[in-house]
Amino acid sequence: MSFDALGLHPALFKALAELDYQDPTPIQAAAISPALAGRDLLGQAATGSGKTLAFGLPLLQRVLQGGEGRRLKALVLAPTRELAAQTAEALRDLARLLPGRLKIAVAFGGVSINPQLMGLRGGCDVMVATPGRLLDLHAHNALGFEALELLVLDEADRLLDMGFAEELQRILALLPARRQNLFFSATFPAAVQGLADGLLREPLRVEAPAEA
Ligand code: ADP
Ligand code: MG
Repeated sequence: MSFDALGLHPALFKALAELDYQDPTPIQAAAISPALAGRDLLGQAATGSGKTLAFGLPLLQRVLQGGEGRRLKALVLAPTRELAAQTAEALRDLARLLPGRLKIAVAFGGVSINPQLMGLRGGCDVMVATPGRLLDLHAHNALGFEALELLVLDEADRLLDMGFAEELQRILALLPARRQNLFFSATFPAAVQGLADGLLREPLRVEAPAEA
């Protein structure tokens, strides 16, 4: 399996080569084509399996091909500031090599909200955020979700472990109902399965076992 069999936009394929990614990991090989086709995904994948590009490549392709203007088209929710920052950095590394000058914003709590508010003044195409700070930004009218096409929940089990269940429900209620959802978790206890069941529409299950 190689990246060129997955139906990626030529600009993304070229960017992967420039960043020296050779072949997709198993979760990338399983997730990318169906995600590009618009399906909801339920991904079980351990840390280090390459989830960022598994959702990041379909996300960037969707944003590249999406509606006009700098509007929020894709939202990634992550459990911690470190994961949000890492994910945003990985998406920016690719986006820098793409046409369209995509703006990828990142937001997390524990730091002043003011620079994050300032940074959103010109809008953004993609937001990577922890749930609480995302709601704070929305309460400051810094974000609109009308153009949102894609939601990613990264490390859903950790999002729930960290007590974000209520914030997640409040966020979901703000998003357009018609959207694609990519849901990733390392484990599927009942609460995570319940969250997935409430969110996903005929999801395709993709897996990357821990030993892979
Ligand atoms: P996860 O989110 O599943 O924990 P990451 O997406 O952070 O995993 O990827 C883990 C590491 O593997 C990162 O350093 C990333 O750059 C690297 N990586 C991801 N995909 C590939 C690939 N296709 N080829 C080589 N390295 C990769
Ligand atoms: Mg990750």
